[in-house]
Amino acid sequence: MDRYEHVVVVGAGLAGVSAVGSLREQGYGGQITLVGAEERLPYARPPLSKAALLDTPRSADELLRPESFYRDRDVTLRLGTAATALRPREGVVELGNGNRLRADAVLLCTGGSPRSINVPGADLGGVCTLRTAEDAARIRDHLERGGPVVVVGGGFIGTEVAAAASARGCPTTVVEAGALPMLGALGADVATRLAEAHRERGVTVRTGVGVRAFTGDGRVRNVVLTDGSTLQAELVVVGVGMAPEVRLAVDAGLTVGDGVQVDALGRTSNPSVWAAGDVAAVSTGDEHRRFEHWQNAKERGSALARAVLGGTAPPAFVPWFWSDQYDLNIQVAGEPAPHDARCWRGDVEALSFSVLHHRDGVLTGITAVNSGKDVRPAIELIRRGTALDIDALADASTTVKALLKAAR
Ligand SMILES: Cc1cc2nc3c(=O)[nH]c(=O)nc-3n(C[C@H](O)[C@H](O)[C@H](O)COP(=O)(O)OP(=O)(O)OC[C@H]3O[C@@H](n4cnc5c(N)ncnc54)[C@H](O)[C@@H]3O)c2cc1C
Repeated sequence: MDRYEHVVVVGAGLAGVSAVGSLREQGYGGQITLVGAEERLPYARPPLSKAALLDTPRSADELLRPESFYRDRDVTLRLGTAATALRPREGVVELGNGNRLRADAVLLCTGGSPRSINVPGADLGGVCTLRTAEDAARIRDHLERGGPVVVVGGGFIGTEVAAAASARGCPTTVVEAGALPMLGALGADVATRLAEAHRERGVTVRTGVGVRAFTGDGRVRNVVLTDGSTLQAELVVVGVGMAPEVRLAVDAGLTVGDGVQVDALGRTSNPSVWAAGDVAAVSTGDEHRRFEHWQNAKERGSALARAVLGGTAPPAFVPWFWSDQYDLNIQVAGEPAPHDARCWRGDVEALSFSVLHHRDGVLTGITAVNSGKDVRPAIELIRRGTALDIDALADASTTVKALLKAAR
């Protein structure tokens, strides 16, 4: 007998879709409704800042699942309809179209929205953010027309957009307030090399400077920087991070900090509401951490379903994400601390290398550029947390795969 008759999943992104798939995989036989504010079938976001901006975008193959996936699993789709209120005590989810769904358990997978910057001219035409397929189509149309592009924010989405814009022949500038693009995620050495790689490919990288204003005549024409200089722009893409979509949770009285706070199982402060993906801030014991990556939404979305059905905590989660820029595949896994020791493998100059971060011989992270083969064995080593032979770790001729084999 199922514990819940009707599970309502709010948010039809990767976390929500992973949750509904996993509910059925685990044998849940009750009713499932997936509520999504966007009209289209759930799709993958990573291509939006990559292939979708290039000359030959793929389209239908970027769906997370074909329509038959939902039909075969008897999942009711309510797309193009936002949930407007959760009433956990009454067991109800209210929808924007006036409907009310009875819900014994609610899985909150509402992701987030791009942050904007609060400067004069931020509402001019041609100043965009990127989160949805519609945003990507708009940016792609601008790139097709050509003209100078300014990307504000040198995070992963910003640098991917810059790579696509310059690959399409648009004069492109990245404006990053910090010392280097991608500095926080990659550390100074790797971020320096990647900033060089952007410059080598024709992108202007401006660091240590912010935006004072956008100016134009209804459409953006110029970006005025905080050092007083001005950049011409026909398109501005603001990539300064995202804010978790917590409004429903706040209104329902759930505990919310930087995201909806959940325990390791995905339970919120209300026993019938659960959360996963970009919106959820997961307890690590002494703090709550939010992750904005594909793997997190996928794994934790699936784990949520198991937990709702009474399962135990998922296996240790190793944060992992990737980025594609030009011909460069960048992958970062684990959570190394800045003072961890590092061993390098490969050729930094040739942009084919990995950095192993370790503490007392235990692998804490990997940063890999065009060295994808090192990543999976490294993730396994990080997950296990066993101490490695320090000499083998320091010996660049010992592959990560060999380190894993030796650790078995
Ligand atoms: C452009 C881009 C590129 C990326 N590239 C990478 C990458 O290369 N590698 C990587 O690891 N990660 C990448 N990511 C991050 C990754 O895509 C996200 O971490 C992942 O999509 C999060 O999934 P989610 O289901 O938590 O949230 P989302 O994908 O945001 O889905 C949430 C859904 O909930 C809906 N929703 C919100 N509120 C409501 C409501 N009230 N009612 C109904 N529906 C609602 C939203 O409309 C949305 O469709 C990228 C993200 C973006 C935006």
